[in-house]
Amino acid sequence: MPITISLDSLTTDPAARRAFNAISLAIAKSKKIVIVSGAGISCSCGIPDFRSSDGLYKLVKDKYPDTFLKGRDLFDSSLFRDPQSTSLFYTFISNLKRSIDAAKPSPTHRFIKTLDTKGKLLRSYTQNIDGLEEQCGLAGSSSEEVRSGGKGKGKLKTREVRNVQLHGDIHRVRCMLCSADLVCGEEHMEKFLEGEAPDCPECCARSEARVARSARPLKVGSLRPAIVLYDEPHPLGEDIGTIQTADINRKPDLLVIMGTSLKVHGFKKLVKDFARVVHSHRETPLTPLPTPSPEKPGKKATKAKKESWAGKVVFVNKTAPGSEWEGIIDYWVEADTDSWSEKTLEEWKKMRPADWEIQKTLVGDADNSFKVVKDVAANKGKGKKQNLGRENIPPTKSQASKQTMAAARSLPSPPSSPSKRRPDSCHYSDSECSPSKVRVVTTNNAEFEERGLLFGDNTNKDGGKDLEDELDLGKPVPPKKTRGRPRTKKVEGEEVPLKRATSRRKQVYVELPAL
Ligand SMILES: [Zn+2]
Repeated sequence: MPITISLDSLTTDPAARRAFNAISLAIAKSKKIVIVSGAGISCSCGIPDFRSSDGLYKLVKDKYPDTFLKGRDLFDSSLFRDPQSTSLFYTFISNLKRSIDAAKPSPTHRFIKTLDTKGKLLRSYTQNIDGLEEQCGLAGSSSEEVRSGGKGKGKLKTREVRNVQLHGDIHRVRCMLCSADLVCGEEHMEKFLEGEAPDCPECCARSEARVARSARPLKVGSLRPAIVLYDEPHPLGEDIGTIQTADINRKPDLLVIMGTSLKVHGFKKLVKDFARVVHSHRETPLTPLPTPSPEKPGKKATKAKKESWAGKVVFVNKTAPGSEWEGIIDYWVEADTDSWSEKTLEEWKKMRPADWEIQKTLVGDADNSFKVVKDVAANKGKGKKQNLGRENIPPTKSQASKQTMAAARSLPSPPSSPSKRRPDSCHYSDSECSPSKVRVVTTNNAEFEERGLLFGDNTNKDGGKDLEDELDLGKPVPPKKTRGRPRTKKVEGEEVPLKRATSRRKQVYVELPAL
């Protein structure tokens, strides 16, 4: 049985709180999260439930009283066999697209985007056709911008696809003859509303060109909504298969399933495939934690600690997973996805505030002037450039003024050697890295100003206690180590700080999140 977590009982049930915190920590620390989602994540966006009797479907049925289609039939490829049901389908889709056009992304969509911004999202896979992820800035597999051949059929630039639209996209249309793939415009919507299919402009253009040179006209295909119906192959199936295989090979460390009842066969298989590879993280034997010495905790200890959060499969949905998910789903968060997303972000900000700051990186130029080159999320540890300069919470007033002052001043001569710094002195990086560290060093602000030192090397210096270490996760945690980075040799003269500044800049990049 998965561990069940009710968000309402977090304050009263210590076990639920522990489990919720463990998931939040996994979110904050994972680097390769796979999200799979269904209709539940768009529930709060104002899209009507078209299956309910007073929803969109009823309106359409009133227009086509003699056609009997319901629920699943409305999305089954067999509907094209009958002109009446085809017309009903077009009218229905036109109405549905109207209401989707008026919808706004939910907190859950924004949560997925945040994971991407923070460099944690390996990929999002959705059954939804509403394209609301794209409104948040997550490029979908149906999006024009990810096609290498521009508009139309070109192959996907798989790396740029952040959200795989397993069932296509209601905002596009496709020619049933030549497979041209176009944005669904107003002119298409009007035709669909009348139950008719617009002609394909590309087929028309080809045919007209032939007629112009007195050749026989070509057949012109008609356009249909570019969504994938049951029992239909996905037109991008090959590319999607490639993306999925690549993602499996990259061994995602966390799988979050949101807002779906997990009923569609192909989708179930996708979830199971990802769950299997995510669980493989759990099988990695954890190195027993040695008693850490405060100066140099063993490398193995860090590794073991890192792995303890990895390998979870989390299901966020109002209804329980069926029995076939036994042993596959580890946690069931019994909640709507918006509430969980918001609470999780809240918890993440609380436990790792450093992930949510902006750090101005200053670099020294050859002419001894300094400039701000990038806003850097002040994450710690190893990471990639993709995390740089993305969405973050603006710096507090005092941080901003510190940065401005540091940037504006021409620097006094730097300290002769970093090794001569007093152990408790304040560094630029320290003060910006983590509020928990800022607290500890605030009394040294004057010294910070005087020193004018831009790049302290001791970014992981133990100045405060991380909140995550205070979580009751039932595991001993070694104290944070002081990174034993080799100090540069002591050299007299002006060049030293400049070289250091450049190398420090690199250091910020390299050391982004060891989350
Ligand atoms: Zn065509």
